[in-house]
Amino acid sequence: MTGDGVDKGAEQARDAPFPDGERIGWQQARDHLTAGKPIILPWGAYEQHGPHLPLATDTAMAAELALRLAARFGAWLLPAIGYGETANNAGFPGTLSLSFDTVRAILLDLCAALARHGARRLIVVNGDFGNQAPLKLAARQARQQCDVSVLIVDYPGLEQAAAEVLETRPAAPGFYHADEFETSVMLAAAPDSVRMDRAAPEYPRFPPTYPALFAELDTISASGVFGDPRPASAEKGRALLDALTRQAATLITEFLAETNQTTSPPRRPE
Ligand SMILES: [Zn+2]
Repeated sequence: MTGDGVDKGAEQARDAPFPDGERIGWQQARDHLTAGKPIILPWGAYEQHGPHLPLATDTAMAAELALRLAARFGAWLLPAIGYGETANNAGFPGTLSLSFDTVRAILLDLCAALARHGARRLIVVNGDFGNQAPLKLAARQARQQCDVSVLIVDYPGLEQAAAEVLETRPAAPGFYHADEFETSVMLAAAPDSVRMDRAAPEYPRFPPTYPALFAELDTISASGVFGDPRPASAEKGRALLDALTRQAATLITEFLAETNQTTSPPRRPE
């Protein structure tokens, strides 16, 4: 997936005109909110990703996709949340998991704070499987309690993109962890943090009750790797990021159109 029409990638995205949440002040934030422009929050985790990827992998991946989307939509890119609900990896040292209710409460608190100043919608780019359920519950509560619509972007189109770009199969259907997918994206997004000399495959045997029965992943995998990271490359990572960005952009475009019709304009001072 190279040639015309691909996304320009992180280097150019960093030069694009969008409010960087790490750098802007309150007046820029106010103007962005008053104009009803999009807001993007990347949400990762701090959890084991095998011997070759950093604990902050999910955060770096979500931040990279969010950066590309912020550049595309002129969105206010909020600082990434670097912790998530990752209880299934808690048996590995270094994994620092938040509880389900903490994740839910953080998102709801942020929605309330944004709503106070006129925001009626928020886009969350989620990089961690365990966050899905608490974020979904918080999104429902945000709609009911503060009239904020939250779109949760969970790597849309991932399975199809992975099937097109990757050489190896996932350890289980829809299960991508410290494998060729995540390693390729990290080689594209944060190459200095990847130790390919430590990359080794593991295809763990899942218990027949998985995932119907909760299982700690250290009881299933010795290394924390699920799949084969060895054929990963930065080029594959860029192709995957381009595909994910396209799919996410389609979803966000629909979301912005729908919420434009159904929500009230942001409050303005008289
Ligand atoms: Zn991950």
